[in-house]
Amino acid sequence: MVPIDTAQTDPRAPGAPRLGNASGLSCRECGVATPLGPFYACPECFGPLEVSYDFPRLSRADITSGPNSIWRYAPLLPVPADIASRPTTQPGYTKLIDAGNLAAELGMRKLWIKDDSGNPTHSFKDRVVAVALAAATELGFKVLACPSTGNLANAVAAAAARAGIRSVVMVPSDLEEQKILTTAVYGGAFVTVEGSYDDVNRLASELAGEHEDWAFVNVNVRPYYAEGSKTLGFEIAEQLGWRLPEQIVVPVASGAQLVKIDKGFSELAGLGLVESVPWKMFGAQATGCSPVSEAFAKGWDVVRPVKPSTVAKSLAIGNPADGPYVLDVVRRTGGVVADVSDSEIVDSMRMLARAQGVFGETAGGVTLGVLRKLIASGQLDPGKETVIINSGDGLKTLDAVAPAVRVPVAIKPTVDAFQEAGFDGA
Ligand SMILES: *Cc1c(COP(=O)(O)O)cnc(C)c1O
Ligand SMILES: [Zn+2]
Repeated sequence: MVPIDTAQTDPRAPGAPRLGNASGLSCRECGVATPLGPFYACPECFGPLEVSYDFPRLSRADITSGPNSIWRYAPLLPVPADIASRPTTQPGYTKLIDAGNLAAELGMRKLWIKDDSGNPTHSFKDRVVAVALAAATELGFKVLACPSTGNLANAVAAAAARAGIRSVVMVPSDLEEQKILTTAVYGGAFVTVEGSYDDVNRLASELAGEHEDWAFVNVNVRPYYAEGSKTLGFEIAEQLGWRLPEQIVVPVASGAQLVKIDKGFSELAGLGLVESVPWKMFGAQATGCSPVSEAFAKGWDVVRPVKPSTVAKSLAIGNPADGPYVLDVVRRTGGVVADVSDSEIVDSMRMLARAQGVFGETAGGVTLGVLRKLIASGQLDPGKETVIINSGDGLKTLDAVAPAVRVPVAIKPTVDAFQEAGFDGA
C-alpha cells in the first residue's frame, strides 16, 4: 500500500465527495487504495478501479421501506444519501416473472425471468446510468456522455434530459433503426460513427482526455457506473423472498453486469441479509461475438479481442473490459460461459414470447439460447432454481425477428371470409 493523505481519503472530510457509504476506490489488480474521485485507473499499475465501502448495519426493513426503484438500495451504492429526491429516471424494481410455462417446456424444476425491459428506456442500462449520473454530478462533471452499442445511448440521453444537463452519445452507424430513433428523440448531441463499437470506445477514451468535465459513464466514471448492476442481484434476492438463486444466466457484453450481480449477491450475504449459500454464475454470448466464451472454453485467463458480427448488437463488444473478471467469477462459482448462433438467438426470442409472453431483445434470446444449450449439454442442472436475465425490449430489435414471424393477411370484414381463412378453430 502506498501512504495516502487521510484527510483526502476520509469520505467525511470537508470537500470530499458525498457518495453515501462509499469510502474510496481500490485497484482490482493490485489492491492499492485511491480516494473517491473522478478516477478510473490505478495510479500504480493502471488496473481498473472499483468502489469500496464502509457499510452500516442494515436490515431488510431499511430496504423494503425505501422507494420502489434502485434507490431502495442507495446505502449499498456510491450515491448521495438524498438521491431518491433528485431528478432521476428512477429505474429498477422490475418484475421477476415465475416462468412456469418455459420451465415445463425445458424440463426445469423452477425458472424465473428477471425482466429488465420494464426499465424507463427498456433495458438494464438505466440502472448503471442512474448511478453514474448521481456520482458524476457529485464529482463535478457537467456533461453526461458515452460510447454505446445502443441501449446505453437511450439511457444516457434520457437520464440527462430528466436531470436537465447536456448529453453526448456515440454509437456505431450500423445500429438498429429503433435504437437510433429512441435515442434521437431525447434531443442531446448524438453522433453515429463509421466503425465498430470498439472503434467508438477508443474515440470516447480520447475525447475523455480532452474534455475534463465530460463524464463518459462507462469510461472515466466506470467504477461508479458498474456498481449500478449490483441492483439486479439485490432485486432478484429480495424478490425471491431474501434468498439467492442456485444458478443464474447473464448476458455478457463488457461483462460488468455479470461480475456485479455476483458482487451484489456477496454483499447481501456479507451483510447477513440473505443466507450465504453457493450460487453458480453462467455467462451468455452470441457466437458472432464470443471472446469470453472462447477464452472460457480454451482455459485462458486473458480474452483475445474479436471483430463482432452478430444480430445481437447490444452485446457486440469485441474487446470486453471485464472479460477476465467474468472468467474469474464463472470459474470460482462453478458456472460456464457459452455462446449461441444468430438463428438460435432468434429462435429463443420467439420461444420466450410464445411460451411466456415476454418479448425480449436479441440479448434475451442469447440468454435463453445459452440456457437451453447448457441444459442439453448437461452443464446446467434443470433441477436447480434458476434465474435468467431479459436485459432489453424486443421492440428495439424488430429487424431480428421480422423475417421469422408470420404476419397476418387481410380479410374482408365478414364471417365467411374469417372462416375461409381457416381461423374458426383457433
Ligand atoms: C449492455 C447490455 C448488456 C451487457 O452488459 P455488460 O455489462 O456490458 O456486459 C446486456 N444486455 C443488454 C440489452 C445490454 O444493452
Ligand atoms: Zn493497481
